[in-house]
Amino acid sequence: MAESSGAGLAPFTASTDWFTAQLIAHLNPPDNWAHDRTAVVSGSEIGACERQVWDSKRNPQPWSGNGFTARGHSVEGWFADPSGVFERLQTTLAAEGHDVWFTATGPAQQTLIDDHNRISVTPDGFLYLDGETIYLEIKSIDPRVNLKGTPRAKHVAQCQYGMEITHRVGRSKPTRAFLIYINASDFQAVETFQIDRNETMAAELVKRAVRIHRAKKPSDLDAEGLAAGGAECATCRLKDYCKQEKLAQVSGLSDDAQSLPDDILSALDDMAQQRASAVSSETEPKPRKSG
Ligand code: SF4
Repeated sequence: MAESSGAGLAPFTASTDWFTAQLIAHLNPPDNWAHDRTAVVSGSEIGACERQVWDSKRNPQPWSGNGFTARGHSVEGWFADPSGVFERLQTTLAAEGHDVWFTATGPAQQTLIDDHNRISVTPDGFLYLDGETIYLEIKSIDPRVNLKGTPRAKHVAQCQYGMEITHRVGRSKPTRAFLIYINASDFQAVETFQIDRNETMAAELVKRAVRIHRAKKPSDLDAEGLAAGGAECATCRLKDYCKQEKLAQVSGLSDDAQSLPDDILSALDDMAQQRASAVSSETEPKPRKSG
C-alpha cells in the first residue's frame, strides 16, 4: 500500500514499468569525460565512416550510453577489474616464474592524447610479459556474430591506431596487440587475434584523422557508410544528406537539389535497413581515464 513519503510529497507506488525504466536509465554511469571529445578523433572512431566522425565533432549530439556500452563495460570489468580474469592469470603466471604485469587496466585505464594531431586512444590495458609489452583491446560481440576466423577491420584499425598513439605519447612501445573477442552470451567463448604493428597502416590512420579534422564540409570526405552497404547510415544524422548526394550523382541532378520525394527517401531507408547487418555497434566511446 502506498504511503506518504513523509516530505509532503504525494504518495508514491513503484510499478514494474517504472522500475524497469529506472534500471534502463541508470545502465551507464554519468559521463565523466575529462577532455573535449569533439577535439580529438578517438580509437573507437577511427574505423567509422569518416564523414560521420566529422559530423560528430562539428555537431555533437547528447549521448549518455546505451545497452551495448553497458555490455562492453561489464565484459571489460570482468577481465580487468581487481580480482578479475587478468589478476587471476597474473597470479598464476607469476607463480610459474614469469615476469608479468597487467597494467593500465580496469579502473587504472589511461587515455593517451597526441595534441599535435588531435588523436586519442584509451587502451584496455597492456600485458607486460617477460620483457615484452603487448597492447590489449577487448570486444564483446553479439552471439549471432560469426567472425569466421578474421577480426573486424575496424577493430584491427583501432589496435594499429592505439599502438601508434602509444608509441607517440605513451611510455610503452608495443609491437603487437592482442585483440580479444568474447561472446556476450557465453564468457567461455573467447577468441584472441594477434595484430602485428604495421607502421605504414598506422601512419595512414593518423593521416585519416587529420583529414577528418581539416574537412570543411561533409562532402570533403567519402560517404563510407553508404559505400559499405548502409549499416552505419540507419541512425546517422547525415543519412538524408548522403542519400540525396548519392542520388544526385547517380541521376545527374544538380547538387543544389533541395529534396527528394518522400516515397523515394522511404524506399532508400528500407534498402539501407535491409542491408544493415545484425552486427551490433562496437564503436561506443569511452570516458577518458587517468591512473
Ligand atoms: S549517412 Fe552513412 S555515409 Fe553518410 S555520413 Fe552517415 S554513415 Fe557516413
